Amino acid sequence: MPIIRVALDVPVNILFEYLAPDITAQDIGGRVCVPFGRRLVTGIIMEVVTHSSVPSPKIRSAVCVLREIPPIPKELLDLFCFCSTYYHHPLGEVAMNGLPGRLRSIKPFVLDYSIPFQYRLTTEGHAIDISAISARSMVKRRLLAKLRESAVINIGEVKRISRRAPSALKELIMLRWVEEISAELTSTDVPAIEISQAPTLTTDQKNAIHDIGARINEFKTWLLHGITGSGKTEVYLQLISLLLRQGRQTLVLVPEINLTPQLEATFRARFPTVQLVSLHSGLNPNERARGWLQAQQGEAKIILGTRLAVFTPLPKLGLIIVDEEQDISFKQQEGLRYSARDVAIFRAKHVNAPVILGSATPSLESYYNAISGRYLKLSLSSRAVKNAMLPVVRCIDTRAAKTKEGLSVPLIAALEKCLALNQQSLVFINRRGYAPVLLCKSCAWAATCHRCASRLVVHLSEKKLLCHHCGHQERFPFVCPECGDQDIAPFGHGTQRVEAALVQRFPDARIVRIDRDSTRRKGAWQEILKDIQEQRIDILVGTQILAKGHDFPWLSLVGILNSDASLFSTDFRASERLFAQLMQVAGRSGRAGLPGEVLVQTEFPGHPLYDALRQHDYDAFAQTLLMERKMAGFPPFVYQALLHAEAPRIDAAMDFLTRAAAIARITKSVEIFDPVPAQMARLKGQERAHLLIQSTSRKKLQGYLAEWRTKLDTLPAQKVRWLLDVDPLEF
Ligand code: ADP
Ligand code: ZN
Ligand code: ZN
Repeated sequence: MPIIRVALDVPVNILFEYLAPDITAQDIGGRVCVPFGRRLVTGIIMEVVTHSSVPSPKIRSAVCVLREIPPIPKELLDLFCFCSTYYHHPLGEVAMNGLPGRLRSIKPFVLDYSIPFQYRLTTEGHAIDISAISARSMVKRRLLAKLRESAVINIGEVKRISRRAPSALKELIMLRWVEEISAELTSTDVPAIEISQAPTLTTDQKNAIHDIGARINEFKTWLLHGITGSGKTEVYLQLISLLLRQGRQTLVLVPEINLTPQLEATFRARFPTVQLVSLHSGLNPNERARGWLQAQQGEAKIILGTRLAVFTPLPKLGLIIVDEEQDISFKQQEGLRYSARDVAIFRAKHVNAPVILGSATPSLESYYNAISGRYLKLSLSSRAVKNAMLPVVRCIDTRAAKTKEGLSVPLIAALEKCLALNQQSLVFINRRGYAPVLLCKSCAWAATCHRCASRLVVHLSEKKLLCHHCGHQERFPFVCPECGDQDIAPFGHGTQRVEAALVQRFPDARIVRIDRDSTRRKGAWQEILKDIQEQRIDILVGTQILAKGHDFPWLSLVGILNSDASLFSTDFRASERLFAQLMQVAGRSGRAGLPGEVLVQTEFPGHPLYDALRQHDYDAFAQTLLMERKMAGFPPFVYQALLHAEAPRIDAAMDFLTRAAAIARITKSVEIFDPVPAQMARLKGQERAHLLIQSTSRKKLQGYLAEWRTKLDTLPAQKVRWLLDVDPLEF
């Protein structure tokens, strides 16, 4: 009787064997329900064999093969195997991590097809003057506006407009302003009709499209290094269009869920009849499963998503784009610690398709690979919009120009001028909350989190102290818990405090704060974005959410507060990140022909990082950093892995690591360091420590880890949780 070898979501790196009478090789990649201990669980059939390694009386039978969806294609199974090997992580967990939740369940999978239709404007609908519709039909107006903006919408989006929107939609269909199209109909084999017109390309864009286009059917890793506003999206669009004509799929990965709607709208406007799915953690399980299936069936031609989308089955995959490739959110920081960018490169190679890494500030790893010839580099070195220039960057020396509530006089003056000209400005401070610390002025007590090695952040608007690492909340103390003094006060600045200062200084300005707190509600960020686009906002105050990828045509001034702290961080990647972040924020201004200005408040105006920022010289700064990294023996000149351990007591974690180091083989090609407490030494009540391993050869490191990992599994580890992080970004 055939035996199946099944990947299950358990933390041991083996396949489990079961008897399965009616199985064939066709079922490889299929889901199967099997008994595990006293439970029933779902797994993936990885192999079908005739002989078992388990003694025959012990082997159990599978309950049933779940055939309601086609098996996972071999290509994706290979990808799971690669991740399991490369990240030294159990295959079952890797595979299950890659599946949408609905498919992990043992319940039969029934896709809810109650939303099969999509809606779009007819030609008559397009011709309607929305402003001529009576103001009493507000819902109708909003519905039409939404349709015009998004090209195609589904009933879920309709309902989100208003409770009355579905009946308004019916009326619009009766009027023949809107038509109903079946989701299936919009998909296959309809040639792409381009609604948004492609602009006349810049020379750089033309060259990039030409070079990649000429090798569109072979694996190459392209680094598209384009300054902010250089029109990278247009390059993506034209290459996608090439792929659509070949009937092939494109996977587009973006770092952040907030970026998907804007990009989705751009893609839909260009390819209104092409089926596009967007996959990210903000979807409900049903939506995610549906998108996943449309991709698996090859119907969805454009798959837009955050890092988890890299595990979507794509039978006709022809191109992968990783936008803002330097962003650390491509790396998952828990469980399977994979880098979606690196997995994407492996995947592209495996299917022999090109992969494009796009960025204005590439990661040093990618940049180094490009200048050393392993990747192909293309540059877009001017802004795409006619007359748009890179902003002028100036430093305000805060040793001379003292700040009040975080703001210096020259910055206030610039904001004032901007307001008078009716242009938008952005004040960037990468710290949410009101103030980062609550201090007692008489004994220097500071409020700290009892579960983490961190300070509690003052959130004045919520009247709370909040830990940004574990979410712990406390009420404000009235007196110092140490000395009883009443003189306790917030110290330093966060977004809320800067917002308050600006409101006081510019009472008539329309000011909006944008950080994780103010955008938490679903749809909030979309509404704010719209307000920005439609010029209902004068001053934006916010964190790095604002820095990424957005196009704000009316923005001409950027003020940067409090960035000095990262100049002297112990993290060797801190300056790379700070530079990328500041280049990104600075890049939001002057994008549509308004001359832009960036003012950086700093006590170190002569620092090389600010110099490079003033010159907009990524290359010079990257070269300097690379030289430093080479001298210090840091990535990209070495490959690293981190053995991370956490336990309620630090001794336990350190003990485990010491024993782990003791069983590691001694060799010249792999360096193994002493265990040390982690930078964040306590988190959520767990003490944390780690051990660094590195080598100048990735291959040697990999071989070493494989051997070591099997030994680690045999170490007693009571109360210690440990994991291996390959290519770690956080220490
Ligand atoms: P990036 O992602 O490189 O920062 P975007 O792709 O957001 O830049 O493009 C910036 C702006 O330039 C967008 O408003 C886009 O519509 C516009 N744009 C892109 N290419 C062209 C072009 N060839 N001519 C005119 N405008 C363009
Ligand atoms: Zn005190
Ligand atoms: Zn905490």
